[in-house]
Amino acid sequence: MTDSIIFLGTGGDEFTVSKQMIGSGGIIVKAEGYQFHIDPGPGALTRAAMYDVNLRENTAVLVSHAHLNHCNDVNAVLSAMSHNGLDVKGVLIANNTFINGDEKTKPYLTDFHNKCVERVIVANSAQKIGIENVEIHILKAKHTDPKTVGFKFITPKFTLSYSSDTRYVAELVEEYKDSDILILNIVEPFDKKQEFNLSADDAVNIISRVKPKLAIITHFGKNMIEADPMYIAREIQKRTSVQVIAAKDGLSISPVSYAPSVRQKKLDNFEGHGVDVEE
Ligand SMILES: [Zn+2]
Repeated sequence: MTDSIIFLGTGGDEFTVSKQMIGSGGIIVKAEGYQFHIDPGPGALTRAAMYDVNLRENTAVLVSHAHLNHCNDVNAVLSAMSHNGLDVKGVLIANNTFINGDEKTKPYLTDFHNKCVERVIVANSAQKIGIENVEIHILKAKHTDPKTVGFKFITPKFTLSYSSDTRYVAELVEEYKDSDILILNIVEPFDKKQEFNLSADDAVNIISRVKPKLAIITHFGKNMIEADPMYIAREIQKRTSVQVIAAKDGLSISPVSYAPSVRQKKLDNFEGHGVDVEE
């Protein structure tokens, strides 16, 4: 399994997702022989089949928040991973709302699918989770689901941050620091503001401070599609002097080409095997 990032979807609002103008199956990150599936929204199984991703190989499913376009197909993916529970395997790392619900939202995870994985971890910001030699840091996010989180993967070969849905707050820049690759959910183009999502103006602000080797914008809303994500990415690149690309459904990227040759960033705590959680 070579290290790669594969986009099973790039849709970011009810217009682009409900009509499946663009997909919403989440993002696959392959690193160190492990396969991570982030935010499997509607169509995750279909898109995985379309883009040759074998969900049986998922090591972990990560869910940033309990909004349908990020988590609708989690139960289906857990079933696909485990032969519908016959071969219990892997880990679910999901925000609290997804697993336990809150005053407004019922839990999305069913009791049956909870048992399809070996372990279910409630992701809280500032937590560090080690899966063998891949470390996952749970990042802050400010979104309408108050328990939304982002994810940072620190692998021996590259560091990747995923913002999830969030509005801009200055702390995000700290959270994403030292990322080789930064994936930002940019719902809106330039000069369009949304209270709980990032726009292209926010992207310029964040990318110019974090200075990743590569920034990828995804999770597009209707206005973004009209403005053309390729054009917006080019414009962000011009304003930040950082390489920026717009994700496309089915896009596969080799993260290693954006990382310094070899380095060791692993924490000593995670020398052991299996899954470790540090609160
Ligand atoms: Zn959301």
